[in-house]
Amino acid sequence: MNLHELHNLQNDPYNYAMGYKKESGKKVVGYFCSYTPEELIFAAAAVPFRIFGTRGNISLADTHLQAYCCSPVRGALEEALSGSLNFLDGVVFPHTCDSIQRLSDIWRLNVPLPFHIDVVLPVKLNSESAREYMTDVLHKFKKDLEKNLKVEITEDSLRHAISLYNKIRGSIKTILDIRQINPSLLKGSDFYSIVKASMIMDRNALVGTLREIIHALEAKKEAPDVILGKRLVLAGAMCNHSDFYQIIEDYGGVVVWDDLCTGSRYFEGQLDPTGDPIASIAERYLSRIECPAKHSGLSTRAEDLLKIVQNKNADGVVFLIQKFCDPHSFDYPYLKKHLDNEGIPNTLIEMEDQASIGERLKTRFEAFLEML
Ligand code: SF4
Ligand code: SF4
Repeated sequence: MNLHELHNLQNDPYNYAMGYKKESGKKVVGYFCSYTPEELIFAAAAVPFRIFGTRGNISLADTHLQAYCCSPVRGALEEALSGSLNFLDGVVFPHTCDSIQRLSDIWRLNVPLPFHIDVVLPVKLNSESAREYMTDVLHKFKKDLEKNLKVEITEDSLRHAISLYNKIRGSIKTILDIRQINPSLLKGSDFYSIVKASMIMDRNALVGTLREIIHALEAKKEAPDVILGKRLVLAGAMCNHSDFYQIIEDYGGVVVWDDLCTGSRYFEGQLDPTGDPIASIAERYLSRIECPAKHSGLSTRAEDLLKIVQNKNADGVVFLIQKFCDPHSFDYPYLKKHLDNEGIPNTLIEMEDQASIGERLKTRFEAFLEML
């Protein structure tokens, strides 16, 4: 698959998933949140499919959810109630933010998919008991999948999944590393499409696609730099607007790293291929940079963000926060304070999936980048 096809795939994921399902006969399992242990779904011979919601109008979901709920959650429920997700063989909800937890309750009562699994992960991540509890929860998830998909998840299939996911995550990271040296080689919106498509497509085919992209980039490595704008880090929940990256580039910026669900939270962290497979999956969640729906230390998130800015030599941070997203909104003031104390320029952009990026946001970007 080339970049153009990846763009199309992430713009029309249902069509791809239905076609793939028909051709391969494989089960497709929908999931929310980067805390879903995809490796186990893959090891159960199914395809993990991240649900992003709609960018169209919302009406059906409004009968179940208040309007002051984030747009990804309202959009996902809208898609489910409209029947657009009927091709799914089941759905997995990890225990993360309140909105996803409540969505799980509403979904269970109103969306008749063949199965519905809650993965009740720990909230606090930095203790020995959290490690034990996380491992137990993952063992239970394995059993739930085996029962619902009527398969056995063997140690070999889990090891294969771990090795494949290490390849996928490593390849996405390699693409970003190449792009950081010379951003002119790959547009930000292309990188965004690669990450989003990686959460949807057949993972075996994905490995080959990522390899081809890396080869193509390496062949162009010596090309002269064309764009070297202000280096930005994006931080927040998830971004469902690929045009956002284009606007940043149009105004002379370049995204060198992010702390997003549609970015580094998906591909950061390699699994230990030699140890106990379930313990390796748990370890990645315990050691990965956490999102504010989890907790380890009082200032862990700020320290992690400062490290990212320093390591990536960034000029500034753009907080991309979904409207009505409590975890990230509560996190923002203290993160901003830490950045301000270090003299790191930052700005906040509130967005909704259903609203287009208007002139007002463009002007704010332009002003921020000029200020840098
Ligand atoms: S921002 Fe956090 S809680 Fe929300 S979907 Fe991403 S990982 Fe999950
Ligand atoms: S983390 Fe925020 S944006 Fe993501 S699902 Fe939860 S409330 Fe919504």
